[in-house]
Amino acid sequence: MAKDYYKLLGVSKDASDDEIKKAFRKAAHKHHPDKKGGDEVKFKEINEAYQVLSDKQKRGQYDQFGSGFDQAGAGGGQGFGGFDFSGFQGGGQNGFNFEFGGDGGDGGGFGDIFGDIFGGKGRDQSQNQGKGNDISVDIEITLEEAVVETEKDINIYISILCSSCDGSGAEKGSKVESCKTCSGSGQVTKQRRTILGTFAQNEICPDCKGLGETFDKKCSVCGGDGKTKQNKTIKVKIPAGIADGQTIRLSGQGEVGFRPGKRNSVAGDLYITVRVKQHSFFERKGDDIIYNLQISISQAVLGDKVNIPTLQDEVKLKIPSGIQSGKIIKLNEKGITHLQGRGKGDMFIVVRVVIPERLSKSQKKLFEKLKEEGI
Ligand SMILES: [Zn+2]
Ligand SMILES: [Zn+2]
Repeated sequence: MAKDYYKLLGVSKDASDDEIKKAFRKAAHKHHPDKKGGDEVKFKEINEAYQVLSDKQKRGQYDQFGSGFDQAGAGGGQGFGGFDFSGFQGGGQNGFNFEFGGDGGDGGGFGDIFGDIFGGKGRDQSQNQGKGNDISVDIEITLEEAVVETEKDINIYISILCSSCDGSGAEKGSKVESCKTCSGSGQVTKQRRTILGTFAQNEICPDCKGLGETFDKKCSVCGGDGKTKQNKTIKVKIPAGIADGQTIRLSGQGEVGFRPGKRNSVAGDLYITVRVKQHSFFERKGDDIIYNLQISISQAVLGDKVNIPTLQDEVKLKIPSGIQSGKIIKLNEKGITHLQGRGKGDMFIVVRVVIPERLSKSQKKLFEKLKEEGI
């Protein structure tokens, strides 16, 4: 049965190009296979629908003749290699602020998505085939921790290489043979007929899951999958100066997957989004720190020396006599280390003179005396 592309995107038959684009983005986000509750089959269908409906000529043909797509082969065990949807509007800029040990250029846009559907090898396609799922986690740190390089343990529950069979999926002593379905290559070629022509698409062999081997006894630990779900603790170094919402990528620390071919495992990436907790009395403005200092009238008039907490230590601050409320004192380099580059931000102390609301009898007398003096 032909697919209804309008229905897939949830738009009417007379939807504008803009409406189609919007609906596609929304649906692609929702069903992205790397997301919780994502659906790879649905995701591919949505892309397929958009490919046709976003093109005037193809859309016209489709309206007239229907899709002509067949349903076969839509499944495919191919893992999606961590597309980043913020990269949609073109360019490789993927919105992540850092990359540790990354291989770069992973911010697949349209090209990769369509490459996946129509079998045309996209830039990273061969590299990403069979790659395990990317994992995203949040981690919360304090402002003090954000100032220095901090090491944190992250606990995740993910698929890792089965240690019992080392990923082969075979029980020890089991007879191992080359997979008959894929002749040991780990992948099969599927023909897909579309209105645009027939395309050949390589997919991971469903029988051997890309390993290229079969065996008479499956590994009793992983059931032949070559991977098991386990709790894993990962140490992550958070660089000094990190800001709330920034993401660190740990390449190869995501879930394990298998590239076509023998025991050729390749893990996805781990994305750690850092949340910096609000401080009880420091306010962060970029790499600068704002601190509100309350002083008394006499301190303002006569001057004083007070201890001020900073993110690093405590400093003695000289308050000059005659300071006005609202005056800002700057402490050089007492802010946050610049993330990329040298140096630090500054600390700004906002001085506020507190006017007493209640006075004792003797205090009142003193103020009356000051009044007589014209102060
Ligand atoms: Zn195993
Ligand atoms: Zn096979």
